[in-house]
Amino acid sequence: MPARVTRPVYPFLSTWSTSRYDLGYLRRGLAERDVQEKVIQYLNLQGHFAFALDSGAKRLRGRAVRAMAAAGMAPGRAGALIKGMSGGSQAGIPDVFAVLKGEGRAALFEVKKPAHIIPANTRTGVKLKQPAGQPTDEQLAFLLTAHQAGAIVGVVWSVEDVAYILTAAAEAALEVM
Ligand SMILES: [Mg+2]
Repeated sequence: MPARVTRPVYPFLSTWSTSRYDLGYLRRGLAERDVQEKVIQYLNLQGHFAFALDSGAKRLRGRAVRAMAAAGMAPGRAGALIKGMSGGSQAGIPDVFAVLKGEGRAALFEVKKPAHIIPANTRTGVKLKQPAGQPTDEQLAFLLTAHQAGAIVGVVWSVEDVAYILTAAAEAALEVM
């Protein structure tokens, strides 16, 4: 059995906590794509310059894997092949990049799908249909490197997570002054 490795505690939002979100949000069963679109929209509405780092490519890769699987290749093999072909690009690159209005500071966000909770006839009244997406070690390492270079970073499951991270960073910057 592989040894259990304890993850370091990262100096930025990186862990899911159901209590951070309201039930209505978790009942929507949002996909990562939905959250990413809202995050980019939110950042741009705030006057920042935000965009998806991997726009299009992810969807294209998914389509290629499905086509290979349809042609008879094992989905795992097709996925591994396509992943290998995406070559040059570094592992763990986050989903959203933003240049913050005025200060020009960089902000990088790894977007994950929130948990999907459905009403159920139990004591708690809810049932977990889909767990929340979790960041990979590569994604966390990438964010940590960016953080150490001065960027604002975090793993986000909602627009509110982004707002929280930006507010906390702005407050921290004020304290330094
Ligand atoms: Mg993601």
